Amino acid sequence: MATVYNWHLGREMSYPYQNGPGGWQFAAVFNTNRCIACQTCTMACKSTWTFSPGQELMWWNNVETKPYGGYPHNWDVKILELLEKANPGGQVWDATAKSDDAPYGRFEGKTIFEAADGMTQRALGYLPSEEEWKGPNNGEDVATGWSAKGAELPEHAGWFFYLQRICNHCTYPACLAACPRQAIYKRQEDGIVLIDQERCRGYRKCVEACPYKKAMYRPTTRTSEKCIACFPRVEGSDPLTQGEPMETRCMATCVGKIRLQGLVRVDETGRWVEDRQNPIYYLVHVEKVALPLYPQFGTQPNVYYIPPRWVPRAYLRQMFGPGVDHAIERYTNPSRELLAVLQLFRVTQRIIFSYAIEPGPKVGEVRINGTVREIFNDTVIGYGRDGKEIVRVTVEEPIYERPQRKTLNSI
Ligand code: SF4
Ligand code: SF4
Ligand code: SF4
Repeated sequence: MATVYNWHLGREMSYPYQNGPGGWQFAAVFNTNRCIACQTCTMACKSTWTFSPGQELMWWNNVETKPYGGYPHNWDVKILELLEKANPGGQVWDATAKSDDAPYGRFEGKTIFEAADGMTQRALGYLPSEEEWKGPNNGEDVATGWSAKGAELPEHAGWFFYLQRICNHCTYPACLAACPRQAIYKRQEDGIVLIDQERCRGYRKCVEACPYKKAMYRPTTRTSEKCIACFPRVEGSDPLTQGEPMETRCMATCVGKIRLQGLVRVDETGRWVEDRQNPIYYLVHVEKVALPLYPQFGTQPNVYYIPPRWVPRAYLRQMFGPGVDHAIERYTNPSRELLAVLQLFRVTQRIIFSYAIEPGPKVGEVRINGTVREIFNDTVIGYGRDGKEIVRVTVEEPIYERPQRKTLNSI
């Protein structure tokens, strides 16, 4: 076992392999507050990558309703129970131990790597049954209850929310750690985690070890498969963008405009290199409005979530760590800059590497938590890898008047 630094946990941890030489890392921010569970992302992935025989139960992208939904069924409850059994009462954070290297404080419990026995398992996990992979949207729109008081922030009495899930292309992937064939690898150029189909023998150790259950077995080929982060698009080899990096299918099709995907620079220790004007870096490290999913698992996942505002905080803290209160406060009362950057979600299929903001005039006022806020119609500009402008969008939605001309209905 090597010792690596996990900045989500604010401490070193044991992992079977040393860090790589650094480079770029695939990363994304999902805003749970905006998702309408239309499943367009799910179908975009399905119709692109998993429509063949043997892939019927595979949903590399899925959107589940929390707290009752889960694909496979109860995946997170099960792994949390295993962790609790291995380390009773140990899943606690010291949120006071915050620093630049530990933005959420320090996790005091055992990760899935530290809780494994090291003999039969390299990461604590379980193999879901075939039944558990069926019915990927069980529990859809089922709320926890109902209250005559109605729904009031900060916590609704009856609640649910949508959790969008893909492979996290983790910095310390449990799937990779567990593979006895070394068939799984993480690419230096973008941090995307892939399974070599030639080397895989279908032992399903990755399916067992991935705490997010995003490695899946295909009986027709007797190999495991997983989300490939639409790597031809991220590489820029898709003809649509003429060589420029492009967001994945599930990101690009998002109807609710909840997803922003990018690439961030990482150093050889797995930490993000400061890049203030990269929108993903800004949301995660500067505003800290987007948080990792179950950081206590220890894989340092690279999909980040803006938590839902109306859900009981204890539930959210277990799911996203101790940064929840700060993230919700930031999202509810955004800075002028954050309000502008949030406009970049789903305005282009190209990957935005940096942004700039041009100040605009005051266009109104809103009252937030009893305080009056001024709203400015700033313009946010997104730039591509080559530094050229690819998109610009204003805080205020523009109104377009269609020219008055007669058109014939189509037949
Ligand atoms: S397409 Fe977007 S809004 Fe629709 S379910 Fe997927 S993440 Fe949610
Ligand atoms: S989410 Fe699971 S399958 Fe994806 S890289 Fe992490 S451990 Fe591997
Ligand atoms: S990134 Fe691509 S492969 Fe992965 S879930 Fe989204 S659409 Fe599917």
